[in-house]
Amino acid sequence: MKIIMLGAPGAGKGTQAKMIADKYSIPHISTGDIFRANIKNGTELGKEAKKYMDQGQLVPDELTVKILLDRVAQDDCKNGYVLDGFPRTIPQAEVLTDALNKLGEKIDYAVNVDVPDENIINRMGGRRACVTCGATYHVVYIPTKVEGICDRCGSALILRDDDKPETVKKRLDVYHAQTQPLIDYYTAAGVLRSVDGTQDMKDVFNDIVKILG
Ligand code: ADP
Ligand code: AMP
Repeated sequence: MKIIMLGAPGAGKGTQAKMIADKYSIPHISTGDIFRANIKNGTELGKEAKKYMDQGQLVPDELTVKILLDRVAQDDCKNGYVLDGFPRTIPQAEVLTDALNKLGEKIDYAVNVDVPDENIINRMGGRRACVTCGATYHVVYIPTKVEGICDRCGSALILRDDDKPETVKKRLDVYHAQTQPLIDYYTAAGVLRSVDGTQDMKDVFNDIVKILG
């Protein structure tokens, strides 16, 4: 099963994508996580991506598309995957559609996690992320057992540089201008399904499972 997660930054795409990946035994692929791992390791790609990420802007399509296509060509993607944070522009979606078409494949579902902008700033300020294993928490809604320490791998959690309120506002603008049009794109492809992302994370997940079966 090939799934795309759509939604504003902070809507809960990553949180749900990880639960989907566990339940359906498919890899969770987050372009944001791939960029952050590269930044952490000081690679050229990381240096380039950071310039855009810190400004709340999108990393250019050429860079992002290459990384994603390389990743989905790997062996563990044979039975599908859940994409989190890709595509974020119409050109990215078109490249993915074309690449899948060539293989006689297609996206099965684009799950739109719907959360109004008012709720987003609040969520992002409390987000804490583990750069070692990719887990995400919230200081109020999804707390860790020990403050500041990842439940899954024991590493120290970080507050993402791009989760500052000014940057979040910019990212929301970028989302509305460049990413929201994907809702129409995947509606036209007949694969869009929307869920109410303002619910508790378990209820959001139940709604997604009803869709995916
Ligand atoms: P995205 O991947 O869409 O940017 P995340 O999954 O990282 O979003 O979620 C953003 C923040 O909101 C995180 O701190 C996460 O723990 C929290 N969160 C995710 N889902 C919910 C939910 N249903 N209710 C409350 N907080 C949530
Ligand atoms: P995320 O972890 O999905 O919130 O992504 C964090 C940041 O990484 C975004 O604000 C972008 O700067 C960059 N990024 C992640 N995925 C993409 C993508 N598909 N296209 C362009 N930039 C991306």
